[in-house]
Amino acid sequence: MPDEVEVIVPDKGEVFDIELEEDLLEANRRIAEENKQLLEKHRIRAVDVMGSVGSGKTTLIEKLIELLKDKYRIAVFGGDVTTTIDAERIKKRGAKTLQINTGKECHLDANLVRKALSKIDLNEIDVLFIENVGNLICPAEFPLGTDSRVVVISVTEGPYTPLKHPYIFMEADVVVINKIDLADAMNVNVDELEAKIKKISPSAAVVKTSCKTDYGIDMVAKALGLL
Ligand code: MG
Ligand code: ZN
Repeated sequence: MPDEVEVIVPDKGEVFDIELEEDLLEANRRIAEENKQLLEKHRIRAVDVMGSVGSGKTTLIEKLIELLKDKYRIAVFGGDVTTTIDAERIKKRGAKTLQINTGKECHLDANLVRKALSKIDLNEIDVLFIENVGNLICPAEFPLGTDSRVVVISVTEGPYTPLKHPYIFMEADVVVINKIDLADAMNVNVDELEAKIKKISPSAAVVKTSCKTDYGIDMVAKALGLL
């Protein structure tokens, strides 16, 4: 079949660090459970916000702060490899902000979140948004102990993101299709995109937003049970 592209995959047992990875994931799950209990004890609603670089995670969090700041005391942990650009933006919105720089890691893990939780007064917080590192692959495997997980995708990513990265969508409680004001320009059919997501993750709430016009921001808050 000359038209088919040859695909290379590792044989069983060929990936030599697989056991190490299993231990790592198990340790992460244990710490995530501890984080969850700590957050529940302080009645904090925590949201893990995942998505690619440029999908609009920071802007969505800014908009949610704007909408919810009179109702809740909000804190934000910003995960980033090295910069503090996003955290500075959030801080201007008046939320308590903590930056988590992961160094070389391309995702947040429960241990980093535990560290950040130890740095803030949990009695002064009602809602915690955790902006994960811009990445659609490994954050899926590293729960942080939040009670909901959001995936933000932008129509500028084109129509294939859910098909290429199904695992993160399976983990999501809420999927936000962002920048729908650009859908026509990008030639992306938002309803078809929604149908693809629903097929991969039937239980996830799918919300369409434009952070430019504020369309749908209240629906995201509702889907998270915050409104
Ligand atoms: Mg960001
Ligand atoms: Zn990673």
